[in-house]
Amino acid sequence: MNDPVLQDIKDRLNVADVIAGYIPVKKAGSSFKALCPFHSEKTPSFQISPQKQIWHCFGCGEGGDIFGFVMKYENLDFKDALKILADKAGVQLPSYRPENKPQQDEKELLLRINDFAARYYHEILIKDSRGKAALEYLKNRGLTEGTIKLWQIGFAPDDFHALERALLAKKVNLQDAIKAGVITKNERGMYDRFRGRVTFPIYDYFGNTVGFSARILNDDGKSAKYINSPETVIYNKSRTLFGLNFAKDSIRKKDEMVIVEGQMDCISLHQAGFKNVIASSGTAYNESAVDFTSARRLSSNVKLCFDSDLAGQTALKKTGEMLLKQNFKIKVVTLTSAKDPDELVKKSPGLWEKAVQESVWFLDWQMDAAEKNFAKDPVEQKHYLSEQVIPLLGAIADPLEQDHYVHKLATRFLISEKTILEQIKKQAAGKKPELNQVNQNIPNGSLLLEKEILGGLLVFPEYLSEIKDRLTVEDFENTEVRELINSILLGNTGFLELKNSSLAKETQFMVESQLDELLGNQTVLMKDLQKAFAILKIGAIKKRQQQLQNEIKNAENSNNKARLDELSKEFAQISGERIKFEVLL
Ligand SMILES: [Zn+2]
Repeated sequence: MNDPVLQDIKDRLNVADVIAGYIPVKKAGSSFKALCPFHSEKTPSFQISPQKQIWHCFGCGEGGDIFGFVMKYENLDFKDALKILADKAGVQLPSYRPENKPQQDEKELLLRINDFAARYYHEILIKDSRGKAALEYLKNRGLTEGTIKLWQIGFAPDDFHALERALLAKKVNLQDAIKAGVITKNERGMYDRFRGRVTFPIYDYFGNTVGFSARILNDDGKSAKYINSPETVIYNKSRTLFGLNFAKDSIRKKDEMVIVEGQMDCISLHQAGFKNVIASSGTAYNESAVDFTSARRLSSNVKLCFDSDLAGQTALKKTGEMLLKQNFKIKVVTLTSAKDPDELVKKSPGLWEKAVQESVWFLDWQMDAAEKNFAKDPVEQKHYLSEQVIPLLGAIADPLEQDHYVHKLATRFLISEKTILEQIKKQAAGKKPELNQVNQNIPNGSLLLEKEILGGLLVFPEYLSEIKDRLTVEDFENTEVRELINSILLGNTGFLELKNSSLAKETQFMVESQLDELLGNQTVLMKDLQKAFAILKIGAIKKRQQQLQNEIKNAENSNNKARLDELSKEFAQISGERIKFEVLL
């Protein structure tokens, strides 16, 4: 990774700042510490070195540079992580050739199909007689032509094969259109997924069309009001936030976002000039948790404004909880003179602005609700506090903020602080550790070991000379580690370049921090490194021994005497070697 563009991005961003955008980090001497987001732990073993611009977890062995962190945390491929960080750093990217071509090709193909469908539906809406009623409907709802064009709103004709024909005319393979989610099939054949509906394209963070949300035009009371694209390779429902592509600059500028319930609310607010607004597609709330990571990288300040009916308020609570766990600062906007944001902003943009300004902290809002709804039944009220409010206090990451609310809850509802704290503790103990991560991998012992040895080789020349004779690339599983070890063994061909890689820096950091912890006692560290090497070797020998046992059995069964001798000889030889390493432990 010696690309000047990558270096430029790295130079402009600080690894600690980038990571602090995702998880709470604490300064510890010249580096930073955090609870590792990639494995479950109670004491922080995740370290960040601003000097080396790398991070490493001493618990699970994961580590790398800013690109590696964003890829892993956000579960993105390199290309998307690069785009995000380039954007953050203000670096213009030259057109970039992706490394894993086939997968990238499929993604791009599916995006093109969705983009084609969006343009097709949009044309129908604005130019075709079949779109006339839908266009009228949208204009009646107050959308301008500019807005309709910007958001590429469209109309899917009430025809089972309209889009299908258009795709075929473009020589698109219908199997691909099924993968893209716009065509579907049953035993009788293929047909258009969206029919007789107003189509709202759903965009990803970068503005690519990844799917649709389609609203019925003539409500017959039988069909669903909205149907959405299915989950596909390009459309991850729980991670896609409606409108974020249009809102991101404004969110960054204002350091604040407003989340509304409905897509129409979102579009309508944008049209009125409030551009830091996003919506989370309504259905996702019922299905699963929403991952707000993509918005979190822009700001940690959220204001929630949901419909004032019961369903809206329930969704608001659930969303607030999810955001709290994802480390956001949350306020609630209450609507008093309208049923939803769309209605309010149409009455007057000033009223909307005022409502946003008067927002209250999410937890205060919760306590207000407890006071208002259970004023007549103090016992029921305590149940509510215990079941609904205290778990939220437990989810607050900042201890000072938590303290503030514990105190507030205690005084407001006449409960002792001790009881509240005990309840928080009890609830925390009864809960499985919860990470907002997809990949909660088990600590990877062998990766840690391999990295430690590599770090030792890079930091101490004497370590290299000591183990060089018995060091073989095949003993290492991680391909990146292998590559570096190989170049060390080959004697410095291209080694200088590799020494600057993030892996080299990370492993050096590992070994250097161990040396710090040992107060600079190199003799002790050397012994540890010897042990690490012995463990690696023993592991490799064990594996070979198992292989040999199987081969010996086969040779016995086939009565192959020469082969049997050969195998037994190797077995005896490596068993002797294994003992030599075991003595070192
Ligand atoms: Zn870890």
